[in-house]
Amino acid sequence: MNKNLMPTYSRLPISFEKGKGVWVFDKNKTKYLDGLSGIAVNTLGHNHPGLVKAISNQAKKLIHISNYYHIEEQSVLANKLVKLSKLSSVFFCNSGCEANEAAIKLARLHGHKLGIDTPNIIVMEGGFHGRTMGTLSASGGRKYQAGFEPLMSGFIRVPFDNIDSIEKISGKKNKVSAIFVEPIQGEGGINIPNNFKQYLKKLRQICNQNKWLLIFDEVQCGIGRTGKWFAHQHSSVKPDVMTLAKGLGSGMPIGACIANKTATQLMEPGKHGSTFGGNPLACSAGIATLNAIEKESLIKNASEQGLLIVNILRKEFKNNKNIVSIRSLGLMIGIELRSPCSKCVNIALEKKLLINVTAENVIRLLPPLIINKTEAKLLADRLTNVIKTFLNNL
Ligand SMILES: *Cc1c(COP(=O)(O)O)cnc(C)c1O
Repeated sequence: MNKNLMPTYSRLPISFEKGKGVWVFDKNKTKYLDGLSGIAVNTLGHNHPGLVKAISNQAKKLIHISNYYHIEEQSVLANKLVKLSKLSSVFFCNSGCEANEAAIKLARLHGHKLGIDTPNIIVMEGGFHGRTMGTLSASGGRKYQAGFEPLMSGFIRVPFDNIDSIEKISGKKNKVSAIFVEPIQGEGGINIPNNFKQYLKKLRQICNQNKWLLIFDEVQCGIGRTGKWFAHQHSSVKPDVMTLAKGLGSGMPIGACIANKTATQLMEPGKHGSTFGGNPLACSAGIATLNAIEKESLIKNASEQGLLIVNILRKEFKNNKNIVSIRSLGLMIGIELRSPCSKCVNIALEKKLLINVTAENVIRLLPPLIINKTEAKLLADRLTNVIKTFLNNL
């Protein structure tokens, strides 16, 4: 532990030197299977030739220039994202929380346009949107908020996957301007709405009826992870605003807030900005990531390998009372155990596997989208072993 680092993380006693594909290597050249991708970030795994080439070439040309100028790489990436999302415009930033801050500002602008002086945003229990004051205020769960009061006001919290509680608010004229929700909750424990399509459809209907913006936080579930470009595309619903980050640059820091026409029109020069956001280097990584996803059919691969992993786990733990449920869409996989299981992370490390535990008792898998069949099977086998070891020592 380095005392010169602010103690924001309790770190595992290991560090890595390099990576290749789904593998990372420590100083002793011991190799670990990466089932986490730096929390859904390394879409293309490690040391992907296309990505490395794109950012090396870009670094030689131009790393940063200000948004005071036109940036070609930014335009190319924006065009791609607009096409894939069928939305209208993109604001680039450097992280998920920044993308969400932009979305929250759009929701506020929209509220004011509706004639509401102090507009509220409906957010979810178990939701996670980041660590800035705005996004931590929007996040559910006291653990992110405790000690940081006063929080930002203007959020109304409702249970996730519960339409009734929103309908009650919509009837009462609660000065709302938007619903802000992760289509699939990541940090909250890989929570997938029971009837995904119906839930999103209802959210859309309520927003239409009340002139609210529907904002999807796809920072974790976007960019091919669930077997579609964006998780909401498993339904027919389109949001007014969508935020992205994690997997977008495959490791280079980049975030995006994407808006439809209505939401785009709320913005004008001077109302929002970012010094680094959308710089040529970050955008070149975004372009390379999206290109590789297309070229290597990684979205299809995410569906297939996700199924393979989950099928093995389901078979291994069928009728096991210690497993509450196995939830997944593509390569976004959560295994909920009956008891807190953070120890699984250390057991996995011993077995040369990188995983994470979220919401105390949910093992979270977010492997790179380039994972192949052999590696997916190995991942499932190693994890099975980890869970069995954990349960045997309960
Ligand atoms: C990780 C995450 C964020 C925050 O992203 P940062 O890049 O850490 O700011 C926001 N929303 C969701 C859904 C996330 O998973």
